[in-house]
Amino acid sequence: MTKYSLGKWDLTELVKDPKSQAFTRQLDVIEKKVKNFEKNKKLLKPALSSQKFLDIIRDIEILIEKISLVEGYASLSYASDTQSDYATSLLTRMTKLGSEIENRTLFFDLWWKKELDQKNATRLIKKSGQLSEYLKHKRLLAKYSLSEKEEKIINTLDVTGSTALVKLYDKITNAFEYVAKIDGKSKKYTREELSGFVRSPKSKTRETAYKTILSMFQKNSGVLGEIYQNLTLNWRDEGIQIRGFPSPISIRNIGNNLDDPTVNSLLRVCKKNASVFQKYFTQKAKMIRVKKIRRYDIYAPIGSKIKEKTYSFPTAVKLVFESLEELSSKLSDHAKSVFNAKHVDSQIRPGKRDGAFCHTITPKITPYVHLNYNGKLKDVFTLAHELGHAIHSQAASNKSILVSEAPLPLAETASTFSELLLFDRISKKVSLDERQKILADKIEDSYASIMRQAFFTMFEISSHDKIVDTPTVDDLSETYMKNLKEQFGNSISISNDFMWEWICIPHFYHTPFYCYAYSFGNLLAFSLYQRYKKEGDEFVPTYVKILASGGSKKPESLLKEYGIDITSERFWQDGFDYIKKQVQDLRKLN
Ligand SMILES: [Zn+2]
Repeated sequence: MTKYSLGKWDLTELVKDPKSQAFTRQLDVIEKKVKNFEKNKKLLKPALSSQKFLDIIRDIEILIEKISLVEGYASLSYASDTQSDYATSLLTRMTKLGSEIENRTLFFDLWWKKELDQKNATRLIKKSGQLSEYLKHKRLLAKYSLSEKEEKIINTLDVTGSTALVKLYDKITNAFEYVAKIDGKSKKYTREELSGFVRSPKSKTRETAYKTILSMFQKNSGVLGEIYQNLTLNWRDEGIQIRGFPSPISIRNIGNNLDDPTVNSLLRVCKKNASVFQKYFTQKAKMIRVKKIRRYDIYAPIGSKIKEKTYSFPTAVKLVFESLEELSSKLSDHAKSVFNAKHVDSQIRPGKRDGAFCHTITPKITPYVHLNYNGKLKDVFTLAHELGHAIHSQAASNKSILVSEAPLPLAETASTFSELLLFDRISKKVSLDERQKILADKIEDSYASIMRQAFFTMFEISSHDKIVDTPTVDDLSETYMKNLKEQFGNSISISNDFMWEWICIPHFYHTPFYCYAYSFGNLLAFSLYQRYKKEGDEFVPTYVKILASGGSKKPESLLKEYGIDITSERFWQDGFDYIKKQVQDLRKLN
């Protein structure tokens, strides 16, 4: 056993033993700190001195750090063993404690956002150092909030209004029973299982999987479409008419701390580059030996006869370390420290949570990485991805806990970057056939995470605009079909069943305009990577500083400090140039 063998993490740095006296004392300290914090209430006056203001913020930081420790411990223990009654009840207890404390300390946030006048707010922001942009953003959000009374009314009505509509959507769609005839046998399937079949080597299976899902949604399009219409109207009425946001998408943009022109520029460049993937799909038709591929075939595997190599965990770790080492030894040391601290849970165990994630408790504690390592190439990439998150978080470890975490638009920078480094390293080491296969997989990943998501967002922009004219569900489906035609051009054939696809996308219901965050995060990392390829080692200090700023700056202003203008189309085009090169490389391999 070395520290790079498959194994379980060690959580004792957070909590030694949750059944011990020491843990009770840990909770007592938190309670004491909250009580002390509540005393600040009477100090919150416009003339509050900047020193006292900073002291209060320091108290919040310490409090959040202490709560994060116990909450983090509970959520990681639960991820380790979701079947344990003890872990489940501890998680419930700690989550409840967390939200109680949030409610008890909320008065400070409300005072800052709503009660304090602008002049005094500006005075205090000036003295708040690394927290200044964070405090400014809170005030900006407050500009769109209403009086406490009105907010309460909206919250109360939402429970039986928009929130209830989303719940209905989930209830209806989760109850769908899919029956499909695959490989000659009719059988019940879950949506996940069917979604897995879109990558089947058998053309008929892929088609059946899509048809089964789409026809179920088509059958229910009346009620699901109506839910969508109401949610979209509600988004507009509340956001624009009541709160005063300029447009439906800017509600999300402001939440993401992005300016409208930045997002517009991203979407415009995606639209202009639709041909990059169209060319790829035309190329793919040749690779899977058909005249033209159908929408059912876009994820059909290439070279499915090639036997997939497996990688032992220590080999995977070595590969990822080597690829990071080439970029920066400082960053690869961050990755190593996750293993040195025994903060990696890599083995597959019964009851353990599926998937992978990286969890940062506080900036001072080495992050925890959760994996279910199975030895496939995709697992090696997942390792690189999650260690990328861990690196990002450690690079920002000297920031306050309030601003250490990268904001959503920048959150996938280091994780994607690490995958790109690994990709370059691995593709040099494999056979030509394998190289072709992983290149095609990567291009399809980029399609799904960048282009598809950008076109989803463009559909939402149109449908949210149209909603004032009370369109029918069929009108919306027609809009969706136009969107698909623009996205794919003549490169593939799209059957009519795809006009119902929009009803199948939960994000449209749960979190309108969320999808562009995927395009943003991935393309941003590609563009920075492209720059690294051009500038070599000279780019590394800039990259490290971008990571080190965590969430302390607004994305536009942070990148501008390093001469990178994310409001420009040029920046996003660099990201596509990287993908274009991959498509060309693949063509050469054929
Ligand atoms: Zn990620």
